[in-house]
Amino acid sequence: IRKLLKDPSLFKEEAFINGAWFKTNSGKTFAVHNPATGELIANISNLEPSDAERAIEAAGQAFQSWKSKTGKERAHVMRKWFDLIIQNTQDLATLMTLEQGKPLTEATGEVAYGASFVEWFAEEAKRVTGSIPSTTWGDKRMMVMKQPIGVCVAITPWNFPIAMITRKIAPAMAAGCTIVIKPAELTPLSALALVELAQRAGVPAGVINILTADANGSIVIGKILCASPTVRHLSFTGSTEVGRILMAQCAPTVKKLGLELGGHAPFIVFEDADIDAAVSGAMASKFRNSGQTCVCANRFYVHKNVLDQFVEKFAKAIRVIKVGNGMEPGTTQGPLIEQAALMKVERHVADALSKGAKLISGGKRSSMGGTFYEPTILSNITNDMFITHEETFGPVAPIITFENDEEAIRLANNSQFGLASYFYSRDIGRIWKAAEALEYGIVGVNSGIISNEVGPFGGVKESGLGREGSAFGIDEYLEIKYICLGL
Ligand code: ADP
Repeated sequence: IRKLLKDPSLFKEEAFINGAWFKTNSGKTFAVHNPATGELIANISNLEPSDAERAIEAAGQAFQSWKSKTGKERAHVMRKWFDLIIQNTQDLATLMTLEQGKPLTEATGEVAYGASFVEWFAEEAKRVTGSIPSTTWGDKRMMVMKQPIGVCVAITPWNFPIAMITRKIAPAMAAGCTIVIKPAELTPLSALALVELAQRAGVPAGVINILTADANGSIVIGKILCASPTVRHLSFTGSTEVGRILMAQCAPTVKKLGLELGGHAPFIVFEDADIDAAVSGAMASKFRNSGQTCVCANRFYVHKNVLDQFVEKFAKAIRVIKVGNGMEPGTTQGPLIEQAALMKVERHVADALSKGAKLISGGKRSSMGGTFYEPTILSNITNDMFITHEETFGPVAPIITFENDEEAIRLANNSQFGLASYFYSRDIGRIWKAAEALEYGIVGVNSGIISNEVGPFGGVKESGLGREGSAFGIDEYLEIKYICLGL
């Protein structure tokens, strides 16, 4: 891999604790493979539980000095880090494509997206503001101040190996908190390179620590992070199933939680929609990252009067998707992350077809082999199929027909998830009513792409707790203190 990087020293196989690269005493490692080729690309230090304790302790000590810096001082360090991320975009994107599989153009886009949180929260660091409410007691004055919550933990997934980290640690750092990160075992390389750049930017020792462990080790380390009374906040992005486990494990120490869990986004095409716009929104929302994002459209509800037109144009649009190795120019859809992901997609498609779905295109593994799957469209979908309520996390678009607005909204809301939703319409009354009625944290109206650093990202129901990014994002890492002052 080093040969593919302009700066080979960004390739790291060790953890990072208290300002130093760290290899566990046992010398144990775990393997990282390229999902496009199956090739072994790295052997990463597989940490012991005691290493996690060490990282928590380092973060606890660093918190004392980091919180005492001014917001402006923290902002300066973060700004340097942002600049270094941007300067090293090509190498970061290369590492990401190699370990995650997404096309290099998408990886490049994620580096910019990930960096945007560092820039945004560096700016926000200077704007943490309390208040002085008017008092009802003449002889007393009241003050409200905001203070950093303390040591924070970030447990992150493989689908956005950089952005899911910066979206958590940038607001934490800006607020004055210190952090222990446990990146996904499938994609640690991007995370480690990111931390190397943080060190070069002058982030003090102990402010950012990163623990690496395989799937089993992550469970053990996860327990330690959850049980520690020093850790005051845990932010997790991943499956709802694991989110529930972490929430329960954090209960004894009553930690504050940020949870970005599963989604099952509906995508509604009303009868007055601009169909070409809806098709390009559907392409962006469904097929980005091979359908492996928690905001990917998972169910398409299309009004019966525009069904044929939408299906025809959508089927034509997906013909331009080029499935392949993300490192090859022109590739627009990479492999699925692993075999289990491929099998889930196959199970959803087989179940739908066995219950009467109609195959419009795709529907099988790609001739490329490995974990590549063809972009797929299914119609005649009914509510009894797995695909209408389980997250598919793959390049499959199931289409359901509806007859009126009430039915579309009712079907769209029929989910335990509540992260992203999308709809296309040109009618202002319908837009307003649908946007209000959808039980989702995010509504994309005439837009298939909704994520950036300024919009509050997060879900309702079993999709999670809290919001990331935006002006609200930093509040997750701040405690409110009220001071009552007798004169
Ligand atoms: P995905 O479905 O996206 O693979 P997971 O929820 O399985 O997501 O994993 C996301 C992150 O959570 C990864 O970093 C993984 O190592 C970690 N993880 C998975 N299970 C546990 C657990 N029981 N305790 C702590 N971390 C876990």
